[in-house]
Amino acid sequence: MTNYKECPHCGEVINYKATKCNKCSKELPLQKYKRINSKKVLEIAKKALFFIVIVNFLAFTIPLLTQSVGKPYAKAKAYVTVAKTINAMYIFPLSQVFGYKNILAKPFYPARDYFYNKGISLYPKDEGEREIQWFREKIKCCSHGKMS
Ligand SMILES: [Zn+2]
Repeated sequence: MTNYKECPHCGEVINYKATKCNKCSKELPLQKYKRINSKKVLEIAKKALFFIVIVNFLAFTIPLLTQSVGKPYAKAKAYVTVAKTINAMYIFPLSQVFGYKNILAKPFYPARDYFYNKGISLYPKDEGEREIQWFREKIKCCSHGKMS
């Protein structure tokens, strides 16, 4: 069992969090394997974080560069692109795995909506693309489920 350890002085079985033995009241050495484990976990977490940061950076940068730079309404497109990337990277996959009412995807909705609305507001009111962007996202939304 991982919740208990043996006192190295008297052999008493005690809670693994205890720093003193309750039988012989001697100081207990920190469990070495535990420290190594948490270090390893930290190392793996660091690698995972690095990977996640890189993947996210690319996932947001590549569409931004290809969708907005040098195109008309670049700023509006950039915002909408970020919203779409949030959909593609987080909301759709999370919803597909955990269902549309899952809490995991919820924090991404306000962010997605903020970028989407901001982008749409930057299009001129009579610009047809504004409608197209909305229409496209609606189609995507409804083939995947409810949007917000
Ligand atoms: Zn002891």
